[in-house]
Amino acid sequence: MSALAPRRRTRQVSYGGVRVGGDAPITIQSMTTAPTADVRRAAREIRSLARAGCELVRVAVKDGDDLAALPVVAARSPIPVIADVHFDYRLAVGAARAGAAGLRINPGNIGSAERVRRVVDAAAEAAIPIRVGVNSGSLERDLRALARRDPARALFESARRSRALVEGMGFRDLVFSLKSPDALATVEANRLFAAENDCPLHVGVTEAGPAASGAAKSAVALALLLSAGIGDTIRVSLSGDPVREVAVAAAVLSALGLRRDIPRIVSCPTCGRSWIDVARTAERLEREIMGMRSGVTIAVMGCEVNGPGEARDADIGLAGSRGGAVLFRRGKIIKRLKGDIPSEFLREVRNFMRDKVK
Ligand code: SF4
Repeated sequence: MSALAPRRRTRQVSYGGVRVGGDAPITIQSMTTAPTADVRRAAREIRSLARAGCELVRVAVKDGDDLAALPVVAARSPIPVIADVHFDYRLAVGAARAGAAGLRINPGNIGSAERVRRVVDAAAEAAIPIRVGVNSGSLERDLRALARRDPARALFESARRSRALVEGMGFRDLVFSLKSPDALATVEANRLFAAENDCPLHVGVTEAGPAASGAAKSAVALALLLSAGIGDTIRVSLSGDPVREVAVAAAVLSALGLRRDIPRIVSCPTCGRSWIDVARTAERLEREIMGMRSGVTIAVMGCEVNGPGEARDADIGLAGSRGGAVLFRRGKIIKRLKGDIPSEFLREVRNFMRDKVK
């Protein structure tokens, strides 16, 4: 019996051909840290994110300079670019016209219903989806007292209002997110929202924190939601390099068996018995292969205790042994590696991947 509930049935939207919701795979997304107006940095960051396996990317459009740069950034991006707009509806309208593959707004801070309508009309004209992103830090004023008593309910009420407003305008290409820095409030708010409509959900914990604690907090919330069948696209929010966010998101989906095309890395924590630098090898491996879409299992193990077993079970595996390491390919010992083992192993992994797609 599966530990996971069946996926919740939702409508489907498309961001420049990347589908979200319905029967589409659960996608990984992230956001650039560079200002969008800094086209070179933003484009470079997007390329790194895409290489790491990011499938949708969001950029901040906070002023006219960012808006002017958006078409160039979108044209250079290998993945669909979503414009993230707060406060000024004219920037959202401009982004829809400038080639954004989708918009992210928070109706609570865009202003009047009339301004929301202008954004909705622009999105409808451009045939792009809107994500309504409700965050605990930017709730409507009249929900703040409720937020202190029951943060999940306040997020849910805000999202419910926005849905009524935007769907009342006849627009249905919607994705919702309900986020708080509190993992359990995020889970509860999403459960409430998921129970009453069929909008796809972008799930994640906002402002989760620095790498280690943020990854743990995100993984807890994502596992609870995804195992209940809730979530159509995910973001792990970490302070720091967003490429790490993508690696964590990919590992969560892979661990839950929700994306079998994401590589699985098995590596030991090492101990005093290890013959090789497992951490450096596994980290280089992670950087290089997590963005690939081929469901291989790769093992990096330090010694003869569990090494041969795990390396033999993997598609390709490395097990440290006296004076070097042993390379396994599909359960068989292929050769012994000596010298610069991380580089040699990565070369073997690249060869393996190349042979696999032949
Ligand atoms: S596989 Fe070997 S090196 Fe790695 S943790 Fe186990 S005993 Fe230690």
